[in-house]
Amino acid sequence: MRVNVTMACVTCKMRNYALTKNKRKHPDRMELKKYCPRCNTHTVHRETK
Ligand SMILES: [Zn+2]
Repeated sequence: MRVNVTMACVTCKMRNYALTKNKRKHPDRMELKKYCPRCNTHTVHRETK
């Protein structure tokens, strides 16, 4: 039930994190606050394909 997803910063669109998520727990697009090295701060990261 776990799938690989990529998390991209919504501010600069840079893909910063690759992780697996539980599809049953998160059937929709996930959003997480994570550190973005390009923005040099914590930003919202959204799941991409
Ligand atoms: Zn960013």
